[in-house]
Amino acid sequence: MKLDILALAAHPDDVELACAGTLIKAIQQGKKAGIVDFTKGELGTRGTPEIRMQEANAAAEIMGLSARENLGFRDGFFKNDEAHQLEVVKAIRKYQPEIVLANAVDDRHPDHGRASFLSKEACFLAGLAMIKTEIDGVEQSPWRPKAVYHYIQSIPQTPDFIVDVSAAWETKMNAIRAFKTQFHDPNSGEPETYISSPRFMKMIDARGIDYGHEIGVEYGEGFTVERTVGTGSIFNLI
Ligand SMILES: [Zn+2]
Repeated sequence: MKLDILALAAHPDDVELACAGTLIKAIQQGKKAGIVDFTKGELGTRGTPEIRMQEANAAAEIMGLSARENLGFRDGFFKNDEAHQLEVVKAIRKYQPEIVLANAVDDRHPDHGRASFLSKEACFLAGLAMIKTEIDGVEQSPWRPKAVYHYIQSIPQTPDFIVDVSAAWETKMNAIRAFKTQFHDPNSGEPETYISSPRFMKMIDARGIDYGHEIGVEYGEGFTVERTVGTGSIFNLI
């Protein structure tokens, strides 16, 4: 299945927190979007990997994704090596996205930076015909996405561009709330974590308002780039 935009993430919920609005907006505009999560987040304090998978699927439905899969890498310890790169190459070739969204280059969780480099390198390698991969015995064709953008997540960074996600914000927050065990639930008896306090959800909202304010809209999501972006028309910039 070909996708227009594919988000790669170290953990299920990274995409929801950082760039779900951008995916939802693309879907609203008739594009096909999907997510490939690298790990099941099995080191998370609250919930279980099984519950997290159910939550990730519920969030995918809320966002209207065409595909979501999990590569089953080891949370906290996956490496940016040949074996892991080839698995990500296979996913990129399978979905043939024009745009890939990847984790922040540098972030609070060390998995994010590692996933970021792994994603970027796999996007390049996926375009090399001499690297052979197959799924179910069928050889895959090479595919290189046109662009890789990094979504800003925990640590604030100066964005290189901001997407207006005002029309998608409510759906994004619903997708985040689908991760019931991870975020604030007044009825939960599980231990409090960095992300489970009511303050955390307020911070997500404030972050969206802040990025939105920078470009004169209600809500925004910020991205960084490694290659300068271009535009066919200066009128496409808001
Ligand atoms: Zn994460």
